[in-house]
Amino acid sequence: MKPNLIGGEWVTSSSGVENINPSNTNDLIDVFAQSGRAEAEQAVAAAASAFEDWSLSPVQQRHDILKDIGDTILARKAEIGEMLAREEGKILPEAIAETERAGRIFLFFAAEALRLTGELLPSVRPRVSVEVTREPVGPVGLVTPWNFPIAIPAWKIAPALCFGNSVVFKPAEQVPGTAWLLAEIIDKSGLPKGVFNLVIGPGPVVGQAILDAPEIRAVSFTGSQVTGRIVAEACLRQNRKFQVEMGGKNPLVVVDDADLEVATDAALDGAFFSTGQRCTASSRLIVTDGIHARFVERLTEKVRALKVGPALDPMSQMGPVVDQTQLDQDMSFIEGARRDGANLRVGGERVECATPGFFLAPTLFTDTDPAMRINREEVFGPVATVIRVRDYDHALDLANDTPFGLTAGICTTSLKFSQHFKRHAQAGMVMVNLPTAGVDYHVPFGGTKASSMGPREQGQAAAEFFTTLKTAYIRG
Ligand code: NAD
Repeated sequence: MKPNLIGGEWVTSSSGVENINPSNTNDLIDVFAQSGRAEAEQAVAAAASAFEDWSLSPVQQRHDILKDIGDTILARKAEIGEMLAREEGKILPEAIAETERAGRIFLFFAAEALRLTGELLPSVRPRVSVEVTREPVGPVGLVTPWNFPIAIPAWKIAPALCFGNSVVFKPAEQVPGTAWLLAEIIDKSGLPKGVFNLVIGPGPVVGQAILDAPEIRAVSFTGSQVTGRIVAEACLRQNRKFQVEMGGKNPLVVVDDADLEVATDAALDGAFFSTGQRCTASSRLIVTDGIHARFVERLTEKVRALKVGPALDPMSQMGPVVDQTQLDQDMSFIEGARRDGANLRVGGERVECATPGFFLAPTLFTDTDPAMRINREEVFGPVATVIRVRDYDHALDLANDTPFGLTAGICTTSLKFSQHFKRHAQAGMVMVNLPTAGVDYHVPFGGTKASSMGPREQGQAAAEFFTTLKTAYIRG
């Protein structure tokens, strides 16, 4: 059984849980610790006792450790990518690219450790000066979803360590293997014992124990809206910082003057790559009258040509969905959309492959109404809808007519539309002639409205969450 990492020791749990490959349910990947509250509390205690020394550690030490982690991830990207593809189901090239991104995130924050700055200002009072510095927040809890098993943990763990915090990390139940490999790399990096702790186990038990611990001074969470609310409310009760990144229902607007190939490529990638299991997926394709027929026809051809298959098969272009629960959720949305009168243009059914797995055909609905459930709620699978609109203004209205606000995209050759959309789309990230998914690792990430609460993640913006400002007044 693969154990937890608590206080620098690999600690086994009394019970274990099997990790099954969604591309082949006969393939048992491994058995992982199924931790309870006690293990989570031990991890919190370890992070609390390691915090002070780490918070005062020299930036050279932080740089060297983060660089070692980043370099090792890059050196082992084929092996980690294979584990990721095997347990999550995205195809191998996507899994390796995600692993590479995680390595680069650690290298980015290795460099950031050497760039910590403060401000020295004159006071408004005579003979007084003012210093503004950033200090670590404390032991932090990091709770992550299954769809980016290494990139999301990396973009929380790397800045947490960079800015001098200690960590309790709880990965999603579906992807313990990638988290375990990452923990193994961190353990060997020379990081002092207890600064980083891994606890594998169910969210309502291990996650909840982290939320209940008063020693935890900040929680960074990515996942569903339902859990995000639990996290936010628990943090408010504990008077602690939180950042919660949740779902999306991201619009990709296509206007008459769009380049048809650019627009259909953006829609294909945004809606179906990574099996559509991206919070930034282009799930609503909002298309103006003049290009609608050509867009639907060309996109249909491209969706039909997508080859669904096992994640490790080099011929596969789209892997399975992550598990039976997610497959059931996707199918219930598909059946609901049919009942509501949406036109099923492609897909909508399971795909048989050589191995038993959770394979679902990429699914495209046309002639959908903005009020349908399929256009209101996040599916989190390879399912997209086309909504036909009169013109750009109509498209923008519908793009913003959602409780979510993570990403929004527009395909157009017009400067006027792209400039207007950038300013008026209600989303934290806006893409022009690009899929709504696919972001850089060195710039801020996050949404508005029901998609996100709290400071942005990634890039230099990460300092805001993982540090607290101190203002010191000095006379003399
Ligand atoms: P989820 O909310 O079910 O689980 C996320 C994490 O929370 C898991 O580690 C889980 O074990 C834990 N958890 C569950 N219950 C908990 C509790 N009571 N207390 C503490 N922790 C608990 O989400 P998921 O199904 O793993 O991920 C899919 C969701 O994540 C989608 O809605 C997707 O849009 C969202 N997501 C958002 C972003 C973003 O940055 N906005 C990125 C990726 C995924």
